[in-house]
Amino acid sequence: MFETVIGLEVHVQLNTKTKLFCSCPTSFAEHQNINTCPTCLALPGALPVVNREAVIKAMRFGYAVNATVNHISNFDRKSYFYPDSPSAYQITQLYRAVVQNGELFIDLDNGTKKRIGITQAHLEADAGKNIHDGDISKVDLNRAGTPLMEIVSEPDMRSASEAVAYLKKLHSTVRYLDISDANMQEGSFRCDVNVSIRPKGQKEFGTRVEIKNINSFKFVASAINYEVQRQIEAYEDGIYKDEVIQETRLWDTDRGVTKSMRGKEEAADYRYFPDPDLRPLVVTDEMIEEAKKMPELPDAKVKRYIEELKIKRVDALIICSDKELAQFFEEMLSRGASAKTSVNWLTTELLGRLNKSGYSIIDSPVSGKKLGELVSKIDSGAINGKGAKDILDVLMEEDRDIDELIESMGLAQISDDRAILEIIDNILSKNQDKVEEYRGGKVKLIGFFVGQVMKASRGSANPQKVNQLLRERLK
Ligand code: ADP
Ligand code: MG
Ligand code: ZN
Repeated sequence: MFETVIGLEVHVQLNTKTKLFCSCPTSFAEHQNINTCPTCLALPGALPVVNREAVIKAMRFGYAVNATVNHISNFDRKSYFYPDSPSAYQITQLYRAVVQNGELFIDLDNGTKKRIGITQAHLEADAGKNIHDGDISKVDLNRAGTPLMEIVSEPDMRSASEAVAYLKKLHSTVRYLDISDANMQEGSFRCDVNVSIRPKGQKEFGTRVEIKNINSFKFVASAINYEVQRQIEAYEDGIYKDEVIQETRLWDTDRGVTKSMRGKEEAADYRYFPDPDLRPLVVTDEMIEEAKKMPELPDAKVKRYIEELKIKRVDALIICSDKELAQFFEEMLSRGASAKTSVNWLTTELLGRLNKSGYSIIDSPVSGKKLGELVSKIDSGAINGKGAKDILDVLMEEDRDIDELIESMGLAQISDDRAILEIIDNILSKNQDKVEEYRGGKVKLIGFFVGQVMKASRGSANPQKVNQLLRERLK
């Protein structure tokens, strides 16, 4: 009956060494207001100089999302007064951003892809922080002037899950490009959500509401679902025009609702104008060449995993969604582990254990190389799955030599035909009656024989080998 329309504005903090218009460090500081200088304090007469590294990183993003990277762009002043901004304006790019007209593809559950347009990505300076402490408020300008890239999407998403898929794709893309830490909790990946509804079939968009202050993918979905419901109810109650106005709302995490914060400003409220202190941003051929140096991106990786490594699409999507996970997987392969076995041991066995003990893949106590070594032992039949799980449990606690563990834990698997046949013949001679029954057509007894042989080997015989040799012997 109704269709949801969503457009996202994402602020990504670029991981440059210095600020956007001065040489103050962007790194963590022990004290307030020490990563500052006349420029980021906006003292009279101090002039901004654009940070080349920030421009290259924004350009690299542009190339990664098939956008137009403008060889000339401009900086503008967005005027507003707030204690965290000593200049009383923010330097941003309104009229001609460095990146325009890009696209990002999201993977839908039904196996297809959907294109989400990226209107533009522009560079702008972050504000400082106001710290409210009892009766007094303090201002810390360490963050003032930190480079942000704001990525504006087209209103192309039609559900909360599409919005979350887009955000996750954007998140993994900037992480693959190594242009941002993109840590949502720490605020280096911040997202504003624009939501409207319209009756199915209506061409014009409905009135949009902007929701700010959302710091997790889960809350993005909750905020959208809440807001859509609120707008639909207003429509059905005939009070849409009064209830749904163009405004900025806040997501209240505790109560699970959005609430009105302020009326939506129009561009005119900000008195935008070209920054007279900054000349047009002209990129050189050298910068273009540098920006085009691109790692393998998630889409290309997924395609390669499916085509070359023959792994399932769902698995490829999971592994490639995270740069560190893909790196880990490739380290496993570099140790000779097969792709198929590695997928299972990474996504199920290792991630399961990491989850339980509160680790992420980055601080996994077991390295990719180590897990690869373990998996290659399973591949070769040196140990079986059960034994490998026991070894992995030990490795989660301490870094030990795998061969030594196989030895000391008595997990070496017997794959040698002769040794296995010896056990088989022993079992068969003790169970002549069952052998007759099997040969008489009761083939289900194979399970009994396999069980007996495995038991006699105390679990160390290679089950595939046992199966194969038993069938031959029983023929
Ligand atoms: P502003 O600069 O005021 O934030 P923009 O026109 O730049 O406004 O749009 C901001 C975001 O809102 C964009 O991501 C855009 O896709 C989205 N948007 C615009 N119209 C709608 C709408 N009717 N419903 C949902 N999102 C919308
Ligand atoms: Mg906006
Ligand atoms: Zn500075």
